Amino acid sequence: MIGSTKVPNLIRPNSKILLVGESPGEDEEREGEPFIGRSGQLLMDTLSRFGISRSDISLANLCQYRPRGNKFELLAGTDQLKEGEKELRDIIKNGSYNVIGALGNEPLRYLCAKYGISKYRGSIIPSIFLERKVVPAFHPAYVARNEGEYPTFAADIKRIVDESEQPSLNYTERNYYIEPSFEWLELNKERYINAARLACDIESIKNTTTILCHSFALSPNESICLPHNDMYMPYIFELYRCNAAKIFHFGIFDYEMLYVNGIEVKDYIHDTYILQHALQPELPRGLDYLTSIHTREPYYKSEGRADIPDNTKAWSDKVDKNKLYIYNCKDSAVTYEIFEKLLKDLQEDVYAPATYNYEMSILPMALEIGRNGMLIDQKKKEYMEMALAQKWEKLQFALNMIAGKEANVNSPKDMPALLYDKFKLPTRRKRGGGITTDEDAVVSLITYCKGYIDNLKTDKAKLQWEVKLEACKLILEIRGIRKLLSSYIKPAISSDGRLRSTYNVGGTETGRWSAFKYIDKTGINPQTMPREELNLPDELDKDFNILKWISQIKEEEESEV
Ligand code: URA
Repeated sequence: MIGSTKVPNLIRPNSKILLVGESPGEDEEREGEPFIGRSGQLLMDTLSRFGISRSDISLANLCQYRPRGNKFELLAGTDQLKEGEKELRDIIKNGSYNVIGALGNEPLRYLCAKYGISKYRGSIIPSIFLERKVVPAFHPAYVARNEGEYPTFAADIKRIVDESEQPSLNYTERNYYIEPSFEWLELNKERYINAARLACDIESIKNTTTILCHSFALSPNESICLPHNDMYMPYIFELYRCNAAKIFHFGIFDYEMLYVNGIEVKDYIHDTYILQHALQPELPRGLDYLTSIHTREPYYKSEGRADIPDNTKAWSDKVDKNKLYIYNCKDSAVTYEIFEKLLKDLQEDVYAPATYNYEMSILPMALEIGRNGMLIDQKKKEYMEMALAQKWEKLQFALNMIAGKEANVNSPKDMPALLYDKFKLPTRRKRGGGITTDEDAVVSLITYCKGYIDNLKTDKAKLQWEVKLEACKLILEIRGIRKLLSSYIKPAISSDGRLRSTYNVGGTETGRWSAFKYIDKTGINPQTMPREELNLPDELDKDFNILKWISQIKEEEESEV
């Protein structure tokens, strides 16, 4: 289960960088040195791009023995892992490293007691023992398998190199003023109202348009949080209406939420989500990602957001409001900091400024289209729902007859049982090897059945295969109807009878918009609405008419028994 060859850590006494991996792989076991194989090569190439060579750093693993199949979980609780961890602690204690790079989930867990490398990568965080500075990064073996992560990996390795200059965490100073007093507001209001820029953020109850609090940042170092209540409302109105250029992160959401709450925002000029889209459309745009790249603030998205309630009662009863207000303040201050960094990048870019200005200029149109929505003919909608349900019922009856029992077209049990066990059609598999009956699989089975039928001689054999072909077609048709009903016809619409959506300028890598439900979670994504004509009957058919061929097939089957 665990190899007997020990691969010793490679320690250079004066190095300022210690990189910690999991356990040696096959190449390392053979050569007797850590990070010598493919992932090690990727790591060294990346370090060299930032002026660091193998001889400048120390390399260690949590365990110095290779588990079978490189499965780290096999090491849990073993003496080999305990020995490795002890050695690592001694290395950290005796070394003078300014930074420790935790490569992957296991070193992150051991050094910092944090879970989730995708969240914490790029953060500057303290170790739980000996108070050292740690910067987690993806494990290079993961990056070798997921090349799209390389730019992020390279950014994190650069951060490790930069952080090796000095040992302190050096966090950005942030002053948060939460639920400030009237005295404080009267004394400080002018500083905010007369600022050139204000970064703004709101927090709201999930899936509703109920706003809980607003935050305004004057700089990366100072922000305020004003709860959404009568006492603060005059200040809130004034701040959004002042002449300062407003910076939002994904303000498409905030701006619309404010609009439906009767709050006008003057000069929504900047958006860090759209800035990032103009600069690097192929990279993530979430605030958490931008925070990890452009600020020293460690990952904090699990701190207050997880506590945001999904109903008003929970908000008044259970929530630690202070935690949410701090989180709100942090969001706006961090947005300000990211904005400053991205604006600098924008000024140095040739094409991005035109894209950014263009996208910001069409934002009001996107907001308006989403807000106007479509007036729905309620009667026609109800009729469509009934007619589709009836069509589904008929097709479902036919499919059940063929299957000999109730067959749910979306069931991961029913469909393989019908297509592969009963019909003995060739099993279709996903990339990972698992059995699938997804749309591509059923389409390919239709082609297979058609080809098979063409080569059959007798009508009886043909009929049997036509049943299989018909079942495949029914499955696709029923799935289509169910999707139509659940995604486009049944979803709730606004109380004024309009079907609304959110259009996300900068939502895709290619530059086209993406779309989804409206901010109150009513409505649909209208961009993916099927365009084919529905061909529904003029009247609902009350007679339940079993398809003719079904009874034929039944007769055939019975006469065979
Ligand atoms: N992966 C690791 O975690 N360590 C090595 O030494 C090599 C590959």
